[in-house]
Order: sequence, then C-alpha cells, then structure tokens
Amino acid sequence: MYYNIPTKLFCEPNCIINHSKEFSSLGTRALIVTGKHSSKANGSLNDVTNVLSKENIAYEIYDEVLENPSIENIMDAVSKHASFAPDFVIGIGGGSPLDASKAIALMLDNPDKTSEYLFEADSNISHLPVICIPTTCGTGSEVTPYSILTIHEKETKSSLPHKIWPAFALIDSKYLSSASETVINNTAIDALGHLIESYVNTRATVISRMFCDYSFSLWPQIFSVLDKKEKSESDYELLMIASSFAGMAISHTGTSLPHGMSYHVTYAHNVPHGKAVGAFLAAYLKYSDEETKSHILGLLKMNSTDELHQRICKLTGTISLSEDEIIKCVNEMMGNQKKLSSCPYKVDKNIIENIYNESII
Ligand code: NAP
Ligand code: FE
Repeated sequence: MYYNIPTKLFCEPNCIINHSKEFSSLGTRALIVTGKHSSKANGSLNDVTNVLSKENIAYEIYDEVLENPSIENIMDAVSKHASFAPDFVIGIGGGSPLDASKAIALMLDNPDKTSEYLFEADSNISHLPVICIPTTCGTGSEVTPYSILTIHEKETKSSLPHKIWPAFALIDSKYLSSASETVINNTAIDALGHLIESYVNTRATVISRMFCDYSFSLWPQIFSVLDKKEKSESDYELLMIASSFAGMAISHTGTSLPHGMSYHVTYAHNVPHGKAVGAFLAAYLKYSDEETKSHILGLLKMNSTDELHQRICKLTGTISLSEDEIIKCVNEMMGNQKKLSSCPYKVDKNIIENIYNESII
C-alpha cells in the first residue's frame, strides 16, 4: 500500500490572508488562472491580489478559463503569459480553473514542448509550483494530481497522464456562499461520485477507504444541507471539506465507470460535470457485490440504489441520450481499458448497456 498527499492544505476562514507567507515561499512572480466571472464576484480574486501586493509578488491574470477547459484554452494562456516568466501559478475557481492551472504550470515549465506534450507520458516531468483555491464543492482538484482537459479532436475529455500535485491549497468556504443552488448541487454530487467510485475501485486501499467511510457518514447531513434554501456558514464549510476528503480518496484510486461515461455526455450535450457523473452512480453501485452495496447504502442511510438514484435526480435533474448515442457510448466504454480495469466487478458489454439504460432517459 502506498499513501502520499504532498499538498499542504489550509482550511479556515480568511486562510488566504492568514497564510500570505506561503505565497512568497514560491517566488516573486505569479500567474493567476481563473474563470471569467465568479472569482471577481465572490472576492477570492481580490483576496489573492491583495496578498500578492502585500508580499511584493508581481502578477498577471489569465481570466479566460472556460468550463471543461480544452487543450486550446491551456495553450492560449501559455502563449499570452509565457513572456511574463512566472515562478508559480495560482488557480482560483471550480475544477475547471484548478485543472487548467496545473496544465498551464506544466507547459510554462517546458517552453520547448508543443501541446502534444500535455498527453505524452513522461516519468520525468517538471512543472511550476501550483496553488489551488477551490470555490465549488465537488472536484477536490486542490488535493489531487489530476488535470482533465477537453480534447475537441476526440470529442471527449481525458485526464493528463502527468501527476501535478498542488504545492498547497487554501479552502475558505465563504466563496461558495455566492454559488447558485445548481452549481452547489451539481458539484456536491461530483464529490459523492468520487466517494462511490473510489470505494468501488480495484485500486482502493485501507487508507483511501478511510476517507470514503468518514465522508459517506457525512452525507445524510449533506443531503439535508442541499435541501435547504438558506445555508449557514457551517453548511458551506461541511460541503467544502467533504469535497476535499473525496478528492483525497480519488487522489489514490482515480475514478471509475461513471466518470468515464460522463465525459461524452458533457462534451456532446454541455451537461455540467457533476450532473453527468451523478446520473450513472446508482447503477454503477447496483452491480457491485452485496457487502459493498449495503456498506455504502448503510452509511448514506438509504435502502436501495433506486432511492439513491431518485435522490440524485431530485438534486441535479435527469439526462437523456438517443439510442444511437447509447450504442456509440457503450462501444467507446468497452474500449476504455483504464476505466474498465478500475471496476472491481466483472464488466461485460451487457452490464455497460444496463448501466446506460438504467441511468439515462
Ligand atoms: P467549473 O467548470 O469549474 O465551474 C462551473 C461554473 O461555476 C462556472 O460558470 C463558474 O464560473 C461557476 N463558479 C465557480 N465557483 C463559483 C462560486 N463560488 N460562485 C458562483 N459561481 C461559481 O465547475 P466544477 O464542477 O467545479 O469543475 C468541473 C471540472 O473539474 C471538469 O472539467 C471536471 O472534469 C474537472 N474535475 C477535476 C477533478 C480533479 O481531480 N482534478 C475531479 C473531478 C472533476 P466562472 O467560469 O466565472 O469561474
Ligand atoms: Fe469528478
């Protein structure tokens, strides 16, 4: 068994300001990577620029990260900011800017490489240090080494083969309070997906399951929080920490079939990541062994995978695909060796078809 999460994590109110010295430990020039609007609206960008000014760190801002960032999005940032020669990269936002910051940090440290390098396996990679500041409650990207990018050429998304761990992550749940109910529900269900797919996974270990077990036990309370119209400070704290714990679980196991199945749905129908993953979770769990199923359902305080599916659909809505698309997706999944090998029960074409048909309208 192997366990190593080399990311320092600070999780407290005002942690960006409280830990300003951590920023200066990484250098004197920073590139901030973020989305178009939310980090300006929720104050996280302002808090970071104030701290950089206080620490005399020069910075530039790339604020054009799109949802589900593509290779082109990464290379656009690199071409606009390589000449600034930053010492480190700060990602602020949901999983999209955080994942983008990792890929940008890789390319900025390898200026002679072209975009193909993003997906070239290399055991000797180097990247600029990355700081992650999450403002959604789902991906856990701040504590994982993964960066998932859209590949237009293949009409899907895929994880980079490189492991890019953030140097440190700062979680201040106040930024989540400005997020819409839809963003909160979708991203929280992504976190639940990370737990289910990490637990029901050939790479699960005693330690990854410790994160899962503790986090599953928080979910009865999280479901009540998600039902509330008005959430409290401690509700946002719970959502953020649950997302990071789920990230710690997948940081060692990766995800499994539901994430693999979600990528086409997101690409072809612009369905948010968490909603696309959530559609497949109950059916994925349904085919696992009885002991695993009752263990997870017990911690979630649910009676059946049907109940889990209804609960998820109530929060994130349903998804529909045409019959032709399902056939195409089934064939694609049957060729996705990485995801198939992460599933601990025997998967054949029949089971994949069943998971699609039971998950999708
Ligand atoms: P996202 O794509 O980062 O953001 C979704 C939307 O939420 C954007 O419109 C964003 O606006 C907005 N937003 C973010 N924070 C907000 C806040 N505090 N208040 C209001 N709006 C806010 O969504 P995500 O679900 O967090 O990330 C999805 C991506 O992460 C996918 O590409 C997925 O594949 C990846 N992912 C990565 C990992 C990993 O381990 N690395 C794991 C799972 C998923 P702006 O654009 O204006 O910021
Ligand atoms: Fe995810």
